[in-house]
Amino acid sequence: MRILIVEDDHVLGGALVAHLAHQGHAADWVQRLDDAQEALATTRYDLILLDLGLPDGRGIDFLAALRAQGDATPVIIATAQDQVQIRIEGLNTGADDYIVKPFDLEELSARLSAVSRRYAASGDTSIQFGAVCLDLDRRQASLNDKPVILTAREWAVLDALVRNRGAVVSKASLEDKLYAFGSEIESNAVEVFVSRLRKKLGRELIQTQRGLGYVLGGQG
Ligand code: CA
Repeated sequence: MRILIVEDDHVLGGALVAHLAHQGHAADWVQRLDDAQEALATTRYDLILLDLGLPDGRGIDFLAALRAQGDATPVIIATAQDQVQIRIEGLNTGADDYIVKPFDLEELSARLSAVSRRYAASGDTSIQFGAVCLDLDRRQASLNDKPVILTAREWAVLDALVRNRGAVVSKASLEDKLYAFGSEIESNAVEVFVSRLRKKLGRELIQTQRGLGYVLGGQG
C-alpha cells in the first residue's frame, strides 16, 4: 500500500516509515498539514495515518475538510489514551479506525490490514433510493447525480435509517445516535435533523410514522 504518514513526532515518524517499509509498504512522511495537503494533491494514497495534533492545525479539521471534498481515502487517526471524546469526534468525522498512542507497531500493522481488507471486500457500497444515491462507507450522498454534503450528525441519523430500511426506527434510537456526539441534544433534535435531511435529499426519503418513529421511504 501507498501510505501517507502525517506525524510531527520525529522519533515516531521515523520508526513508522522504517516499519511500514519493512512490511512492504511505500510510506511518505510529512510533519505538517499543509505538506499533507500538498502530498494528497499529487499522489493517490491507499491510506492516511493521521496524528491529531500538528504544528499547523488539528488533524480532525483536516479530516473533515478531506471528507467534505468527497475524498474517501481510508484514514486511521492516532490519539492519546485520554482523548476518548476526540476519538469519537474523529470516527464521526469519517476516520475508518483509530489507534491509541503509544502504539505497538504490530497492532498498527493489524489495523492497516483490517482497514484495507474492509475496503477491498466492500467494493461498491452505494445504495440507490429513487434519485438519491448513498454510499455509507465513503459517506457520500448525491441527489440526481449532484453531490450533497451532509454533516456528521445528519449521517448518523441517515445511517441508522438506511441500515434498518424497511423497519420503523424509533425517535429514541435516533436520539441515541446523536448522543454519541457527546453534547447535550435538544428534545426536538431528531425532528430537526430529519427535516434537514429532507431538505437536502427530498421529502419522500424519510417517512414519519406518527408516534412510532421514522422509516426510510422512496423507491428503494
Ligand atoms: Ca502531534
